[in-house]
Amino acid sequence: MLRATFIALSASKSLRSFAEKTALGQRLSSRFAAGLTTEDALRAARAMNQLGLSVSVDNLGENVTNAEEARHSAQLYHQMLDQMSEQELNANVSVKLTHMGLDVDEQMAYEITRDLVQHAARINNFVRADMEGSAYTQRTLDFVRRLHREPEYANHVGAVIQSYLHRSEKDVEQLVSERIRIRLCKGAYKEPPQVAFEKKADVDANYVKLMQILLKSGIYHGIATHDEKMIRATIDFARRENIPATAFEFQMLYGVRRDLQQKLVKDGWRCRVYIPFGTEWYPYLMRRLAERPANALFILKNLFR
Ligand SMILES: Cc1cc2nc3c(=O)[nH]c(=O)nc-3n(C[C@H](O)[C@H](O)[C@H](O)COP(=O)(O)OP(=O)(O)OC[C@H]3O[C@@H](n4cnc5c(N)ncnc54)[C@H](O)[C@@H]3O)c2cc1C
Repeated sequence: MLRATFIALSASKSLRSFAEKTALGQRLSSRFAAGLTTEDALRAARAMNQLGLSVSVDNLGENVTNAEEARHSAQLYHQMLDQMSEQELNANVSVKLTHMGLDVDEQMAYEITRDLVQHAARINNFVRADMEGSAYTQRTLDFVRRLHREPEYANHVGAVIQSYLHRSEKDVEQLVSERIRIRLCKGAYKEPPQVAFEKKADVDANYVKLMQILLKSGIYHGIATHDEKMIRATIDFARRENIPATAFEFQMLYGVRRDLQQKLVKDGWRCRVYIPFGTEWYPYLMRRLAERPANALFILKNLFR
């Protein structure tokens, strides 16, 4: 029930506006977001790199409603790509297509995203298209596949697959046949039973099944989870199949299971931290609270410390 409440809160416009504009709200967010500016994000990226972790930076925001906002969001990503390169950070970027204007004009969103991938290709970096709610799944995968077909972009763009969706196995097969890099996660949106598994056990079983397809594919994928059972299953499978630690990476969210991130690196595995930043942190934070309502208590305790 708490999960459903936080997911419902993530869509509340009035609460969002209150949270984003107050100092109290900004303090609430600091556990899971790196700050408000690109400098904050790059500082956090450098700190992660020093711990042996690579990074993917996300300029928080989604569902923009006009072209100007979409272009502004993309501009921040362009700046960030240049700064990552100048500062020689081990970091790439994660982008939501509705942040690039997918709800406003599909062709415009495609061109904005293509320019970003083109920029990343020029400096040998990488753009990951995050996966949003199921209303966007097909269009997001179509964007990535279209970009990936351009030979000069092929190594510089990747997709995300959510193991809670019934369709994901088919999507994985198609993306792998086209040699597209995938980040595998469980999925963070509220979906109806027609499109997504409802039981955690089914989501987890599908996660393990898809992870095995990915690891066997010979393509460099990201296994994004904090679930120790999923991590153990991945390590066991890699060992059993003689898949080297350099053939894939684990991925985790900024501020979540920092102990586990460090342990993986210490044990010789690769781990990338997803660092969100920016003023639009509210729906992101609500999704994190939905995943683990105990986080609400944790945040409140720290707020008054
Ligand atoms: C790098 C990365 C990128 C992602 N990108 C996307 C995306 O593009 N689209 C999408 O829909 N989802 C995305 N997600 C979110 C993902 O779908 C899950 O909602 C989230 O990772 C929680 O699932 P889990 O695999 O960690 O396992 P769960 O079964 O949810 O959790 C397992 C255990 O991990 C710990 N844990 C999990 N979440 C938290 C948390 N928020 N705070 C503290 N502890 C926690 C707890 O100990 C929990 O018991 C991403 C996740 C990661 C790590």
